[in-house]
Amino acid sequence: MTAPARRATPVRAAEGSAATAEGDTPTGESRVALVRRARRTNRELARAYPDAHCELDFTNPLELLVATILSAQTTDVRVNMTTPLVFAKYRTAADYASADRAELERMIVSTGFFRAKTNSLIRLGQELCERYAGEVPDSLDDLVTLPGVGRKTANVVLANAFGKPGIAVDTHVGRLARRLGLTNETDPVRVEHALGALIPRSEWGMLSHRLIFHGRRVCHSRKPACGACPVARLCPSYGLGPTDAAEASRLVKGPAAQ
Ligand code: SF4
Repeated sequence: MTAPARRATPVRAAEGSAATAEGDTPTGESRVALVRRARRTNRELARAYPDAHCELDFTNPLELLVATILSAQTTDVRVNMTTPLVFAKYRTAADYASADRAELERMIVSTGFFRAKTNSLIRLGQELCERYAGEVPDSLDDLVTLPGVGRKTANVVLANAFGKPGIAVDTHVGRLARRLGLTNETDPVRVEHALGALIPRSEWGMLSHRLIFHGRRVCHSRKPACGACPVARLCPSYGLGPTDAAEASRLVKGPAAQ
């Protein structure tokens, strides 16, 4: 990874009064400029992380729903170590509905908050059986009515199990959306709507994956590797972390961005 050719243009100064007239973007750039920069950033991230994907293992919507519920407050790696046994034992919504609580708790204990998660999974199975004939619904409005399912989980399932548009806002997506100057919002639902207004619907699911990949590998919470960042020239926060290429590359986790 080479250092960026130039730092992101200070967009407020670059756009001047037109930006102010057009409005209220996080960086002061015009709305048109913000949309262009957001889409360019998404394209650059696509080039940098061509293998970005959902890092939870699953083979059907129910498995992804369960894995996403289990992923709260733990890592995808930990969930993937836990789910093979769970998925082998509980294959249908009815299996979760009639699960032996103590046994299910033991199987998922390593994911943390295991009592609350067990409650959610048993109630999830019951509600799926009672209201959806045992099937996982494929709409956001229905998904968020299920136990243990918030908007983030619903969007993960929509985008990855059903191939529908959905922006899942986790801690990485929220942090990067703000650092990249795409929004100032801190509420995940507002971040989701802000990103959704900038990026085509067909890209929503992959945008989440790319931002999560970037957040895990390069743009870390405490010390972003700005000098090794594939979108540095588009980022108004460039310089938040080390800009020296050698120092920054030592901060990169996992495979370097392409
Ligand atoms: S690593 Fe630095 S330049 Fe890259 S997105 Fe994060 S803050 Fe911006």
